[in-house]
Amino acid sequence: MGAIAITSASPTRAIVSKPAADSPAMTPASRELDDDHTLRRQATGSCPLCQRHTRLTFHHLIPKALHNRNRYRKNYTREELQLGINIYRRCHSGLHALHDEKTLGQELNTLEQLCNDPAIRKHSAWVAKQCD
Ligand SMILES: [Zn+2]
Repeated sequence: MGAIAITSASPTRAIVSKPAADSPAMTPASRELDDDHTLRRQATGSCPLCQRHTRLTFHHLIPKALHNRNRYRKNYTREELQLGINIYRRCHSGLHALHDEKTLGQELNTLEQLCNDPAIRKHSAWVAKQCD
C-alpha cells in the first residue's frame, strides 16, 4: 500500500517557517516565562496579529520610552508596565511604523485594541501573505 497518510492538521500548522539565521544576537527559544509570568524572551509560536507560526519578539504594550512619564507611573504598577505580547517582528515593526509611542501607550495598549485597529489589521493581513 503506497497510500500517503494525510492527517488533518490545524490550518496554522500548514505554514512551515524555516529557521532564519538572520540575527546572531537572537537567542534560541529556551527561556520562556519570566518572573512576572510574561513571555519576554525570544520565543517561537503563533503571532496573535498575523497568525504566522514563527519566531516572536516581545512588544511592551506600554512602550518603554513612556515608563518614566508621570501619567504612567501614577496609573500603572511596575508589573503592568512590563506587560506585553509576543509578536512576529514584521508585525512588531508595523506597529511602531503605523503609530507613535504615545498612541500605542494610550490607545493601543491591549492586544484587543491592537487587533481592532484598522491600520494594524491591514498590515497584519499583508504580513500573513509574505513568505519569508
Ligand atoms: Zn504577526
